[in-house]
Amino acid sequence: MGRVVVMGAGIGGISQVYELRKELGKQHEIVLIGDSDTFEFTPSNPWVAVGWRKHEQITVDLPAVMAKYGIDFRSTGVRRIHPEENRLELNDGAGVDYDYLVIATGPKLAFDEVPGLGPENGYTQSVCRTGHAGASFVDFEKLAADPGPVIVGTAPGASCFGPAYEYAFIIDTELKKRKLRDRVPMHFVTPEPYIGHLGLDGVGDTKGLMEAELRERHIGWVCNAKITRVEDGTMHFTEVDEDGNDKKQHELPFRHSMILPAFKGVDAVMDVEGLTNPRGFILIDEFQRNPTYPNVYAVGVCVAIPPVGPTPVPTGAPKTGYMIESMVTATTHNIMSALEGKEPEERATWNAVCLADFGDSGVAFIALPQIPPRNLNWASRGKWVHLAKVAYEKYFLHKVRSAKAEPFYERTILKLVGAVRLKGSH
Ligand SMILES: Cc1cc2nc3c(=O)[nH]c(=O)nc-3n(C[C@H](O)[C@H](O)[C@H](O)COP(=O)(O)OP(=O)(O)OC[C@H]3O[C@@H](n4cnc5c(N)ncnc54)[C@H](O)[C@@H]3O)c2cc1C
Repeated sequence: MGRVVVMGAGIGGISQVYELRKELGKQHEIVLIGDSDTFEFTPSNPWVAVGWRKHEQITVDLPAVMAKYGIDFRSTGVRRIHPEENRLELNDGAGVDYDYLVIATGPKLAFDEVPGLGPENGYTQSVCRTGHAGASFVDFEKLAADPGPVIVGTAPGASCFGPAYEYAFIIDTELKKRKLRDRVPMHFVTPEPYIGHLGLDGVGDTKGLMEAELRERHIGWVCNAKITRVEDGTMHFTEVDEDGNDKKQHELPFRHSMILPAFKGVDAVMDVEGLTNPRGFILIDEFQRNPTYPNVYAVGVCVAIPPVGPTPVPTGAPKTGYMIESMVTATTHNIMSALEGKEPEERATWNAVCLADFGDSGVAFIALPQIPPRNLNWASRGKWVHLAKVAYEKYFLHKVRSAKAEPFYERTILKLVGAVRLKGSH
């Protein structure tokens, strides 16, 4: 009998425990350690931020669900990992031993890297957590009551760009519905070297598609932008040239601003020798295992992956749902092999498949593999993307509530995209 502990109860961690439960059988013990009782479906946060969803519509209370499906769940959170002792130290001081550990702790949000950034100690909103999105909605209502300029974007070093575009287009849609858009000048500020780069050096014609969308919606933009400081109502940023030299200093006013921060690893793993890179992301081999501690695996946003290429202002590569699902499946099979005393064989597919919702339509893109040149490099715009994103939300929340182990992207989105591509080719 083996004990597998999964650390982090988000999209990666929940998928991991359900796949392990299905594949391993009851003779092995599975423990899930989250840092709260609640699962949040992060991709719906931009909808919470404009009031299209309420907190309770996109969250699931985990203790009852996990008890029902025989998974030992603790919500105390991990204070520190001690991989040389195969032990976790929890926030309440308790210890949890493991034979195999899967780290799925997502990102720590690095608001502190830019003075004045973030909802807790700064002046900008966030949609990274559902609680942040709820607070952002309160700020959005203030904007609606007294319209003024809006800035949406991403901080230097960010790797998650899709939700910033989504948020810009979603609030444009909502402001139009309320007939307020004409009183709200909007800007998109990003470290990407061009619009639609997305940390992936573009996918298909995301440059053309996203630029056209911004133009059509009268949203101005600045690329190669390094936000340096935020004051109450004023964003300071430096625009650099293609060699990274300062080109222009900007000072833009805002009444409402949502900026996605750079990510780093969570405190519980930061600076554990041999486990993480300098930013605290977990180092893994091709089988999702840490090279120093091969009984430690990692999946999701907490994994160290290199940027697709250098950019004048640093950017990272995104880790999205399809890639996370594939990391989870590879990890499940490799832990099964390890329990049987065999060598690991399964590798994740390093592909990016993403749905960026605009509220009334959206852009879907597929990069196979993530790093160019690619076998498939495709992007498309349409109303169907918004509907597919709603389907993703419904499917994933159902999956969490009913302990379904099936991946979503492989079975659903790739087939749907295949049908859309086929239709486009006629
Ligand atoms: C706003 C937003 C929208 C996105 N939309 C999409 C989308 O539409 N499609 C897509 O494919 N991808 C999307 N992504 C990217 C990605 O799929 C998500 O970020 C996804 O939630 C990542 O899953 P994860 O499990 O790696 O991390 P998370 O979902 O962040 O889960 C990590 C969990 O670990 C917990 N944790 C952290 N530290 C500890 C600790 N010490 N002990 C115990 N638990 C801990 C966290 O609280 C959290 O619950 C989006 C990302 C963001 C930020």
